[in-house]
Amino acid sequence: MFQKRFADLSFRTRVVAGPATQDIPRNGLVAPIHMATTYTRDERYAYVSDYVYGRSDNLTLRETEAQIAALERGHSAMLFGSGMAAAAAMVLGLDRPIHVVASSAMYYGLKHWLAGIGRFGHSIEFVDTTDLVALEAAIERRPPRLVWIETPSNPLWQVTDIAAVARLAHAVGAELAVDSTVATPVFTRPIEFGADYVMHSATKYLNGHSDVSAGVLVAARPGDLWARIGMLRADLGTGLSAFDAWLLARGMRTLDVRVRAQAATAADLARRLADHPAVRMVLYPGLPSHPGHAVARRQMRGGFGGMLSIRLEQGVEAALAAAGAVQLWRRATSLGGVESLIEHRASMEGASAACPDDLLRLSVGIEDPDDLYADLDRAFRVLGLIVADHPASSSDTGRGDSR
Ligand code: PLP
Repeated sequence: MFQKRFADLSFRTRVVAGPATQDIPRNGLVAPIHMATTYTRDERYAYVSDYVYGRSDNLTLRETEAQIAALERGHSAMLFGSGMAAAAAMVLGLDRPIHVVASSAMYYGLKHWLAGIGRFGHSIEFVDTTDLVALEAAIERRPPRLVWIETPSNPLWQVTDIAAVARLAHAVGAELAVDSTVATPVFTRPIEFGADYVMHSATKYLNGHSDVSAGVLVAARPGDLWARIGMLRADLGTGLSAFDAWLLARGMRTLDVRVRAQAATAADLARRLADHPAVRMVLYPGLPSHPGHAVARRQMRGGFGGMLSIRLEQGVEAALAAAGAVQLWRRATSLGGVESLIEHRASMEGASAACPDDLLRLSVGIEDPDDLYADLDRAFRVLGLIVADHPASSSDTGRGDSR
């Protein structure tokens, strides 16, 4: 009946109605993208679902959030347009000024933002959270309401003991949030170690294809802060777009195989580079001589991640030259994608960089490990970066990963 009348309507009206998508098949192998920014009422002026308006209600977003919450064994998740937006939402959702204790070694962009939260009335102290004695002293000196850690930390891959920090935080009534971007839920699920919130830059491993900018928060349980973060996101419209949420969900279908392959290659490269006569030090939590290895073995189950850094024997100029001479590794910032990336990190972080200027950060992709190693080795050799009396050249190496 309606269809017949519809056919009689003018072209201008019919084109507004768009294609007939009333009956969405639900048995498609892949979920559709729900792009609606508003939802219709029925003839009695009632909504037929709890979806009203796109700024707060989107099925693709909710489906992807449910997928991530389940992976992290959390109660629920919220997706944002970036990792920074997700992390900032935690602070912006606070209802009154608080004291925060945070890892001194963390992604420099977030550290810079957190350093300025005094303008919201909060205070913050950065502490070496790998040092539990120092952390306990800081917590006793001035009890925080929120403890924020990043493990392994970018770009030195220092490891913080989540379970121990959770105990210290909870003892003074503080909540613990963990930036678990680098560990991924494949290897570490912080909520299982007592964390109250998990955060990811989903731009990285969760998506894995360097084509979505996204961030996510996962809560162990609902609460007032979680509700306020949700309201703030709905009010400001800072939720991830449906299209990006769909791409993210697609990327996550290969999360486990991608990340395990990346970690296996990273471990292989770390071992081989530790014995390379151009390399002074390899930073990778999977190496037994890494200071955080014992903790990493406990809380990173099945692998130590796909990120490592190297410091070259011949310093900053050598590091820059090597980054320029590789042919397979791509010269770019970011991490966690299927393509391997090399970055002279201090160039990115700027003058106030906490990271040494001879450090190259390697985000290992899914290419053949031999090709990745050969590319670095060739670059070091053509540039003449080999150190003749390097300990690796002697028969008694006994040198582990760092000197
Ligand atoms: N956390 C870590 C560990 C990161 O490496 C990054 C970005 O590099 C972020 C957070 C910020 O994420 P985004 O760039 O998605 O805002």
